[in-house]
Amino acid sequence: MPKCKKAVREGRARAAKLNEVRIRDKQVNEGPLPKESSNVPPMEISNNDLQRNKKFTADEASQDFYKNIEEFEITDEKEADCHETIINRRIIDVSYFLSELKRISNHGPLGCSFTELDLVAETQNGLQSKFTFKCRLCNSKFCINSDNCSDNYLNINTCAVAGTIAIGAGHSQLSELMAAINLPLLSEKSYSYNHELVSRKWENVLSNSMKKAAEIEREFAISNGRMNKDGIPIIDVVADGCWSKRSYKKKYNALSGAAAIIGKHSGELLYLGIKNKYCFICARSENKSVEVPKHKCFKNYSGPSTNMESEIIVEGFKNSINMHNLIYIWILWICKQ
Ligand SMILES: [Zn+2]
Ligand SMILES: [Zn+2]
Repeated sequence: MPKCKKAVREGRARAAKLNEVRIRDKQVNEGPLPKESSNVPPMEISNNDLQRNKKFTADEASQDFYKNIEEFEITDEKEADCHETIINRRIIDVSYFLSELKRISNHGPLGCSFTELDLVAETQNGLQSKFTFKCRLCNSKFCINSDNCSDNYLNINTCAVAGTIAIGAGHSQLSELMAAINLPLLSEKSYSYNHELVSRKWENVLSNSMKKAAEIEREFAISNGRMNKDGIPIIDVVADGCWSKRSYKKKYNALSGAAAIIGKHSGELLYLGIKNKYCFICARSENKSVEVPKHKCFKNYSGPSTNMESEIIVEGFKNSINMHNLIYIWILWICKQ
């Protein structure tokens, strides 16, 4: 608190005390105050009451009001040197952070407590922060992470990106949200890195999930004796795809399409394909008539958009033996009408 405010507060407290003493003296000299009634003045005499009852002039009232308040010089002198670094909102793993705070408390041969520690620095990596504390007594430094960085914990930045993808948003929307909450922003580079990480993890999970589904379908087919002459199980599948044709009352042929093959018995996914007719990097290079730089190209289709779904399903059928050692013999299309 600045010194001037503190001085005014102390002055007011002293004035209130003096006022109490004056009332007490008045009670001693004039006897006890009469019981409260409608025409009895209030017990506590305020400066306004004094002004009204005694009919002071404005100057006298002003002098009376201020005579009990000592004057203090207002200075711009700092109250104390503050070493603390001011840090606003952050996301922390509460249990982990508290355990880390306990770890650095009561440290050193002097048994310094947490109150001796000043927060002197913060190192940010997206939503993750590393706080550096310095002890005023023994000058030791301690670092604490805002989030648990153990191997079995998913990084908070990766979680933020995964959530953003799940709600159909992107880096721009995440930045808006973080700015509104007054949290640190995730850089575009960090977002792309985590996006790639999440994509690879999801691909692995998807691959494992499809293998398990194929295993269930295989066992079911074998138990029903549905195998060809080479002993390869034969199963029934359901197929569906998505590809948008219209948008906002205009004829629109989507440049991307996806289709999936699902096991009829398990209801689980066996094959998923995506077709893209457009790659931004390739298109930009073509427009500028320059050499296409080395990049991860997502363009994998050049035929008519209407054939995307059927082409993916055909690919899925062709790869059934390679992928799962299964033969898809009966297909059920999901009607979209
Ligand atoms: Zn210390
Ligand atoms: Zn490309």
